[in-house]
This record gives sequence, C-alpha cells and structure tokens, in this order.
Amino acid sequence: MRGPLSLLLAVGCGANLLMGGAPEDAMAKVRANAALLTTRALASDAAYRNLGSLCDDVGHRLSGSASYGRAVEWALKAMRDAGLSNVHAEKVMVPHWERNTESARMISPTPQELSILGLGMSVPTPKGGITAEVVVVSSLEELATLKDDQVKGRIVLFESPFKGYGPGARMRFSGASAAARKGAVGMLLRSVASLSFDTPHTGTLHYDADAPAIPAAAVSVENAMMMRRQWDRGQKVIVHLEMNCRTLPDAEAANVVGELPGASKPGEVVLVGGHLDSWDVGQGAQDDGVGCILSLQAAHLIHEQGLKPARTVRVVFFANEENGNRGGEGYARDHKAELPNHVAAIESDSGNGLAKGFGLELHPREGGAAPDAAKALAVLNLLAPMLEPLEASRLTLGHGGVDIEPSVMVGVPGLGMNHDTSKYWEVHHSKADTFDKINKEDLARNAAILAVTVYGLADMPSRLLEP
Ligand SMILES: [Zn+2]
Repeated sequence: MRGPLSLLLAVGCGANLLMGGAPEDAMAKVRANAALLTTRALASDAAYRNLGSLCDDVGHRLSGSASYGRAVEWALKAMRDAGLSNVHAEKVMVPHWERNTESARMISPTPQELSILGLGMSVPTPKGGITAEVVVVSSLEELATLKDDQVKGRIVLFESPFKGYGPGARMRFSGASAAARKGAVGMLLRSVASLSFDTPHTGTLHYDADAPAIPAAAVSVENAMMMRRQWDRGQKVIVHLEMNCRTLPDAEAANVVGELPGASKPGEVVLVGGHLDSWDVGQGAQDDGVGCILSLQAAHLIHEQGLKPARTVRVVFFANEENGNRGGEGYARDHKAELPNHVAAIESDSGNGLAKGFGLELHPREGGAAPDAAKALAVLNLLAPMLEPLEASRLTLGHGGVDIEPSVMVGVPGLGMNHDTSKYWEVHHSKADTFDKINKEDLARNAAILAVTVYGLADMPSRLLEP
C-alpha cells in the first residue's frame, strides 16, 4: 500500500505539508523525473566540455577586466546553446583593480626572490618600493599585544598554519588595517592554503577608514615559514616589496541570466547560480567556474529531458563575488519586487569536490516573522530519497552563499551546495586553479545532484516557506 499513511511514515512531518493539496502522485512524478535526470547527468560530458571552454577560451576573469567582458559574451552564448530562454545580461558597476607588476626580495639575512601575489584591492607601494624589517605574528590577537614601536616602520608578516579557510581569510581581510594602525608600512600574509608548491594564494582585503592604507601581499607558504624560522632564531629579516597595482574608477560589468520558464507557476522562481568572476591568475576553474557550469548543466538537463517544471528555473552567473559582491547586491536590488516569490536561491561556490548535500539558510522577510525552519527542512527533505543514490542527501541548516546572500538576508531561502573542500584550498585563488584539476566524473555527479535539487524544488507541490 502506498496511501497517505505510508507516505507519512516514510517522510515524517514533511508529509503533513503534502496532504493539503499535494497528492502523492505529484511527488511520485517528481521522483521518477529525478531518477531520469540522474541517469542522464551521469552520462553527459556537456558540463566538462563547457568548463574546459570557459577555462581555456576565456581564462581568468577579474571584475572590470576585458576578460570579464569576454566571459559575459561566452556565458550569453552558452546559456542560449543550453536551451535557456530570456537570456540576457543585467548591468552592474564593479570595482576595477589591476595587479600590474609586483615583486618581493629578501635583503637580509639571505638575499633571494620571494614568491608573492598582491592581495586584491591593495594600494601600490610608493614608486621604487619599500624596504623594511619584518615583524612576524601568528594572529590579529598577537599583533594586538605588540607595542606600536615594535611595529612602526616595519612590514608585518602574518604566519600561521592552515586551520581551515576562516582564520586565514580573517587575517587577509583585516590584517593590513590592523598593522597600519600600529604604524606598519606593509603587510605580508602566509598564503591561506592547505598545500603549497611555492604557489601564493591571493584574495581580497579591506581597508578600514580610520587606518592608513598600506600595500599587502600573500607570500608562499614556503617563504613565510622560512621567515618565521629566521625570526625565531633572532635573525633580522629585511624585505624589499614593490607593487604597481592600481584601482581605477568603477567599471561596467554584468550578471548573466537565463531561464526555463515555469509551466504553471512562472512567477515563482528557483534561482541557481555561481559567480562568473574569478581572480586574475589561473583559470578560475573551481572558483567559481564549477558553480556556473553546474548551474547551467542543471537547467540544460531539465530542458533536454523535456521536463516542464511548474516554477521558473533561473540560472544566474553573478559578477564580482571576489572583490565587492556588486553582482549579488545588484540582483537583490533589481529583483526586489519578485524576491518574495523566489522559492529558493541555490549557490555552488566551493569547488568540484563531491557534494554531500545542501545547507539551508533562512532569514525573516523585511518586517516579517521568523521563518519556520523545521517546516522548511521537512519540505527540503522530501528530496532526500532522490539524492540518496548520489550520496548527497545531507540536508541541514547551514550557509547559503556570498552571491545569493543579499537576497537571502531579505527572506529568500538560501541553499549552499556543500562540496567536499578537502582539496579545494590547495588551488583556491592561485595560479593552480586550472581545468586540469577538474575530475570529470565528480563534475558529472555534482551536476546530477544539482539538477535533481533544482528540478525538485521547481516542480514539487510545496514551497520551503509559504508566501
Ligand atoms: Zn568563489
């Protein structure tokens, strides 16, 4: 028997939500189509071919650069080729930072070139560079314990072993201003990376208004550890740093958007996306070419199977996640009126490791009551049986994503795709983030996971949150 009672037993409290106007037949259809999508996704190499093209035909694509402009053209064509409708670019203004030439050289105790990569949005050094003694600290907290005269006129090196992305990223983001407040003239950061072959990893920094803006660069793990050893031995470490980066006036860029219009509820939207911009080194393969290509492939598979989900599936390639998030902010601003009818916003932005599921992030609508998280999770878990064959049925509360955050903060349910990141920090934000590291089978499986989730949310009777 497969009546309402057995369904209730099978899926727990989520079934309550189905009993009103949501016959079991509807979910049976969703499950059958999800199985079709899974089979097709695992056999398709379209995502792999598309990501290879984005990486090799466009390459890295920092916001404001000419190559970001080429990426937009590439994306418009890729979305049309994938069968999407209403394909268009939505203009946003983005920060425009250029790296230009940069170098660092140890003067003392052992003269040698150092491997550096300037931090995004850094100011340049004065012409001819700076030469200064290095002070080594392991954290913002340790820096705070130093007296100003221990820091004044020096370069502060933050050197701490990788303990996950968060702690290192915090030093990268806030370290320059913290050091400058104590009189430092420059900042170096041990690259935030879980593996290094002398490859520095960049990322954005932030200058506080109440501190002088000083030049800042990531240094390779090997070079940072050497300076730490020299410092611990009591040797005087002197470095010459020269950076010729510059920040130009804001430039025009765009989010790229395409849709599969909903068959019966076209005003209700399931958004799925990643960010099209990348850092200006490597190919932005995992960060976040993968997120864009998986989103595109999810929609393409639904279209290719001839499925016509009730709700609209909207693919968004966001601009400027790396150094400003103007794409995510622009989307939330320009689509404000339809956000209450965004059933979910889904983001993939942590590489191509196999996904284990999704994290659901909920916030109240402006002036609204707290969302019913238990109910939303129960609805989301109706997808679990379809994701179990892909070992991706872990559907819990969690973090959505940076690009979707401005929409999620005003009440759109956010879903972050939880990839295995154990290899991601080896290549993230470095020259090594290239297509050759992409595992084809993992990409296909991630596409299956995303396709099932997008389709399920677009075609199941219930919404995560009622309007
Ligand atoms: Zn990213």
